Amino acid sequence: EDTDKTAYHCRQHTMSLAEHAQRVVAEFDFDQNAVQKSVDEFLREMDEGLQNEGTELSQIPTYVTAVPNGTEKGLYMAVDLGGTNFRVCSVNLHGNSTFTLTQSKTPIPHDLMVAKTSKELFSFLAKQIEAFLKEHHEDHYFSHIKRRNTGETQDQEIFSLGFTFSFPVNQVGINKGMLMRWTKGFDIHDTVGKDVCALLQKEIDALHLPVKVAALVNDTVGTLMARSYTSPGKSHALLGAIFGTGTNGAYVEKLSKVTKLVSSTAKAGTYDDSTGEMIINTEWGSFDNKLRTLPNTPYDTTLDKDSNNPGIQMFEKRISGMYLGELFRLAVVSLIHDPNTPFTSSETGPTGSESKTTTRIPATSPVFKQWGIDTSFLSLCASDTSASLNLIRESLASDLQIPDVSPEDARALQAIAGAVVRRAARLSAVAIGAIVLNSGRLDEGEQDVDIGVDGSLVEFYPDFEGLVREALRGVKGIGEREKRVRIGIAKDGSGVGAALIALVAAGRAE
Ligand code: BGC
Ligand code: MG
Repeated sequence: EDTDKTAYHCRQHTMSLAEHAQRVVAEFDFDQNAVQKSVDEFLREMDEGLQNEGTELSQIPTYVTAVPNGTEKGLYMAVDLGGTNFRVCSVNLHGNSTFTLTQSKTPIPHDLMVAKTSKELFSFLAKQIEAFLKEHHEDHYFSHIKRRNTGETQDQEIFSLGFTFSFPVNQVGINKGMLMRWTKGFDIHDTVGKDVCALLQKEIDALHLPVKVAALVNDTVGTLMARSYTSPGKSHALLGAIFGTGTNGAYVEKLSKVTKLVSSTAKAGTYDDSTGEMIINTEWGSFDNKLRTLPNTPYDTTLDKDSNNPGIQMFEKRISGMYLGELFRLAVVSLIHDPNTPFTSSETGPTGSESKTTTRIPATSPVFKQWGIDTSFLSLCASDTSASLNLIRESLASDLQIPDVSPEDARALQAIAGAVVRRAARLSAVAIGAIVLNSGRLDEGEQDVDIGVDGSLVEFYPDFEGLVREALRGVKGIGEREKRVRIGIAKDGSGVGAALIALVAAGRAE
């Protein structure tokens, strides 16, 4: 009997991580049936959001009623406050679908993301604009200073600036909008409810810069505009989407369907309705916050509970780069804490025989810290195609302080990482699929449906698009026509896009 027990114990202990990893991989399944249910819910929430305020999908009217056609011309400025960086650029639109762009990029200091007052953040932004002007538009900057001193003001010297602000704002005009809530780890209480354009203009004016904030633009709207300006073919782009630190999409909707706008007298008549269309910022990061159709593992629950915005951005928390590394980390920690799944390494015993020993993970390893694993690690996992998985094992050792992981165990971790991202891609297909279906464009003739995308996941994760397409093909009403959905990267498109909207706002469109 005793011998039996020992044998059993040994078997438990040498049970491979791979077997346990398979269980975790299955927890991240999101099958075609589930995709379909979510698509149906997305379509329902789209309609609901076009009719009412305060819905899960905010469906924010942007007051942008036309997409560009490539003939737009002129020199404009744009800034982009995203999730990670602040970019300042000037864009020269050549009017033939091409442009030149000069830009500078600064990481946003973490303490400004959670500052006490809005002023700390916005004065930092204004200072970056000043530095950019001095460096790249020196003549312009100094001639303005000189004129200002002599009291001559020259309107045409003022740069029109498109402000890409990648957070949900209740937009009430082309350059006016109140912050609804922060996302992506930002948390400055005092900004919520304030007009972010006014906050920026105030700090720009304090530095006497020749810049007027002419348009407020979500990054998804900028991406859609950029794609329309540069994309070949006659059909206007339908959707601009970001799969980066956060996730969101903006699409072209029939104005007649935006009934909440038509019925609000305060807002009616403040935009050009001649195209019969308006770009809508869905804010899909908060799709299905009530988890009617979204998958929910124990890792999702923990991630949300420990975030600074529990209960909201529930879709985003399953898709975007800010969160995927953390989901993976939580799944791995659950395995480490399971006494039956030691990380093992192959060691050669004194007699030359192979024996398995438990890898010790120091308590200081980032694997035990919230946000300890970056989503770029998941990209690395997917790109390591070597038999020995050396890239993964080296990164585990050097970045995560987990040394001597066997190739088999590295493969188990690779499988979990792949499952986390695969689910994210399938969820992304829910949003894309619903918006394509809503447009009815697949039923109109044989034209492609054009989509512009940007963000670290689509840029760096190997074949994220392929994973999205696989799920799209299974959606009712899309199927084989998935081939007609054309997806193109609009790298840093929000800069050009914001410049294009500044142009329209400044009344200089042809
Ligand atoms: C924000 C969106 C933004 C997206 C991508 C989300 O967290 O709510 O406004 O478009 O991130 O940057
Ligand atoms: Mg961005």
